[in-house]
Amino acid sequence: MTLETLPNDVLDRWDREAFMHPSTHLAQHARGESASRIVSGGEGVYIQDRDGNRLLDAFAGLYCVNVGYGRQEIVEAIADQARELAYYHAYAGHGTEASITLAKMVLDRAPDHMSKVYFGLSGSDANETNIKLVWYYNNILGRPRKKKIISRWRGYHGSGLMTGSLTGLQLFHAKFDLPLKNVIHTQMPYYYRRADTAMDEAAFVADCAAKLEALIEQEGADTIAAFIGEPALGTGGLVPPPAGYWDAIQPILEKHDILLIADEVVTGFGRLGSMFGSTHYAMRPDLITIAKGLTSAYAPLSGSIISERVWQVLEQGTDENGPIGHGWTYSAHPIGAAAGIANLKLVDEMSLPANAATTGSYLKETLQDAIGDHPHVGEVRGEGLLCAVELVEDRANRSFFDPAKKVGMAVVAKMLEQGVIARAMPEGDIIGLAPPLCLSKGEADQIVEVLRRSVLDVVDTA
Ligand code: PLP
Repeated sequence: MTLETLPNDVLDRWDREAFMHPSTHLAQHARGESASRIVSGGEGVYIQDRDGNRLLDAFAGLYCVNVGYGRQEIVEAIADQARELAYYHAYAGHGTEASITLAKMVLDRAPDHMSKVYFGLSGSDANETNIKLVWYYNNILGRPRKKKIISRWRGYHGSGLMTGSLTGLQLFHAKFDLPLKNVIHTQMPYYYRRADTAMDEAAFVADCAAKLEALIEQEGADTIAAFIGEPALGTGGLVPPPAGYWDAIQPILEKHDILLIADEVVTGFGRLGSMFGSTHYAMRPDLITIAKGLTSAYAPLSGSIISERVWQVLEQGTDENGPIGHGWTYSAHPIGAAAGIANLKLVDEMSLPANAATTGSYLKETLQDAIGDHPHVGEVRGEGLLCAVELVEDRANRSFFDPAKKVGMAVVAKMLEQGVIARAMPEGDIIGLAPPLCLSKGEADQIVEVLRRSVLDVVDTA
């Protein structure tokens, strides 16, 4: 029996009997109480499922299929690589033409002060690598106490032991005994949800900076190794930073000799309208984490981009201690690297960062015109093709809906009924949009119209 001939009901039964899904209500799924969807194909911004639905994917999978579905250039590159050499490792100086070429292509696009690329498989493992490199760096520099990592509430950095600790969302900590020691969280740069609504944006940025200073003071700068942040908050709500945020944060880190890790798993390779979020906001990171847009998810591949400053110390460390004790079997996997090369060529040929900027502005303005003034819409926000609509109980005094009403999830469910996939972001009623970067204005119009109708349908009865 081939996969194609398996009937849907058999697959559905096996799915519930055999498959543990990530980020899923396991009990409801196993009991058959929650919907499942068997996805079978995709082209451009659309996916198809086995029930014959064609859906506009306004979240690009998990904001990763940046070039869109069905790009034959990447498919062919993967097939060619698999035929020629499906695997060889990268330990002890081994490489393949694909992994070496991709490292060069990434560096050519990265900020000038970056020096080398280490390849992993997922955003989570790339962040784990970056934390290990930071600890190694401080040990080599003779500062064994300088190990804590500052993250932000509502930051998302993965769901491993360390990266789940860095993530600033309750669901990823509770019942997992996280966060681990050495991880501390500071105020999130989420202006709309500021505690004191009387604060203007400049005062809020000053408050974020003051809270960071106070945390460093309390813990002791000699115990803090690095600060990790997404250039624009992703899973925590799709929130561009308030104006001047990074300009206020970076001098504090520099003053206390704290490294900056820019987690660009979502923002890398064009989503904000620039190749990197770091350049978009004039950040000067010591390490950059990349994943999703590196291959547009055609194959699993991630990376840590290492600055010259950190690299010099890594070299010193191996001169003193021998080869670095870090690596995965699948580091720099040639199939992922081949996908990455073909993907980055497409990103250039299709001018995707520029399209993210123009179509992203159009999407945000059209959303604003369509529902921005609705009494249950607190905020329409976005940067490039990362957009969100935050729903509130009462716009005038910014009160939020009772979470038990699950308003955001109801809107997203309504949108799905009308053929558009959006994502209900956690800890709030936040409708998230992060479509493929090849989105056209016509497709943006379709998303806005479906979102508008769904919001009107749901909030008036909430
Ligand atoms: N960092 C950020 C900013 C992310 O958004 C994600 C995933 O969404 C990760 C890290 C973790 O990546 P992965 O799910 O590939 O482990």
